[in-house]
Amino acid sequence: MKFTVLGSGSSGNAVLICAGQTRVLVDAGMSAKEIVRRLALVGCDAATLDGVIITHEHGDHAGGLRVLLKTLSCPVYISGETREAYIGDREGVARDEPRKRDDVLRDRTEEISSSHDFRIGEIDFHPFTIPHDAADNFGFTARHEGVCVATLMDFGHITTLVNERLRGCAAIIIESNHSRDMLKACSVYPWELKQRILSRTGHLSNEDVAVWLRDEYDGGAEHIVLAHLSQRANNPYVAKLSAEVALQERGSLFSTDTKITLSFPKEPTPWIEL
Ligand SMILES: [Zn+2]
Ligand SMILES: [Zn+2]
Repeated sequence: MKFTVLGSGSSGNAVLICAGQTRVLVDAGMSAKEIVRRLALVGCDAATLDGVIITHEHGDHAGGLRVLLKTLSCPVYISGETREAYIGDREGVARDEPRKRDDVLRDRTEEISSSHDFRIGEIDFHPFTIPHDAADNFGFTARHEGVCVATLMDFGHITTLVNERLRGCAAIIIESNHSRDMLKACSVYPWELKQRILSRTGHLSNEDVAVWLRDEYDGGAEHIVLAHLSQRANNPYVAKLSAEVALQERGSLFSTDTKITLSFPKEPTPWIEL
């Protein structure tokens, strides 16, 4: 099993997970052209994808989907609630966009639920609800031949369920959105937006990730990839250092060899093979 984070940040998110002959795109938050370009960069022809999973309707996860579907022949795996929200009228979405989205998704959808397992080709997906201000956002583990990769972005706090589902994963792609101090000091964001990001249904901070790594994480993953870093309220090296220090702070009994990797908005990570 292998994966690459094609791009991640407030401007757009997409992850490619491959196992055996199966290739699955998770989220389509960049422009269709950019997603196709990055897939090609990592050696994947977009036409060969077996499925696109949409975790939630926000533009940085689904904004490129409609145009991308013109190039793809595979189905879209999306929950009923997320689909309704995606084709609904929303602020920041052009007037005729909801109808176009509805048209393009017709007969292309495999309806999934954030609480029921599903399978695409040779990969088993095990989704779970995560707390975010979207219709039905979920994280998931993806399993192939006993190896498990977790992907979770856009959530305000780590729940007991999240903690349980991350146990035993060989790799974890997890949001490390902002540094709380940098977010509070950020002069560009209005107060309401800061409150939204900081809330329990907003985004996970470097500090939240650090507490989890130190106190709750089972230490079993070879790789943890930090994702969805804010370009205004975070610094990649601060996020990485914060996670690495947290791993070192685990008692010697709980020490781990986990490697921390950063993902970036403008370029794919190297392939991570498990
Ligand atoms: Zn997002
Ligand atoms: Zn979101």
